[in-house]
Amino acid sequence: MTTNCKNCHKSFIGKYCNYCGQQASVDELTFKDILLESWYSITNTDSGVVRLIKDLFLSPQSVYLNYFAGQRKKYFSPVTFFFLTVGLLLF
Ligand SMILES: [Zn+2]
Repeated sequence: MTTNCKNCHKSFIGKYCNYCGQQASVDELTFKDILLESWYSITNTDSGVVRLIKDLFLSPQSVYLNYFAGQRKKYFSPVTFFFLTVGLLLF
């Protein structure tokens, strides 16, 4: 059974859209959904930030090599991290 994605309007089969990754069954947005999504984005970002900071201190070369080898989801974006730290230092 094909489903039309409400986000990108393409047809797909399964629980998630093959093009954008959105869930097939998107119900009405509730306050609980907003809280869960906020928590998910915070905890995902935090784990990437913590991993990036830890690896930058312990073995900065592995961050460089892994990031340019294609492991982009593992770390928080180094460019964003750079601008955040510069902003914090200026503040
Ligand atoms: Zn989609």
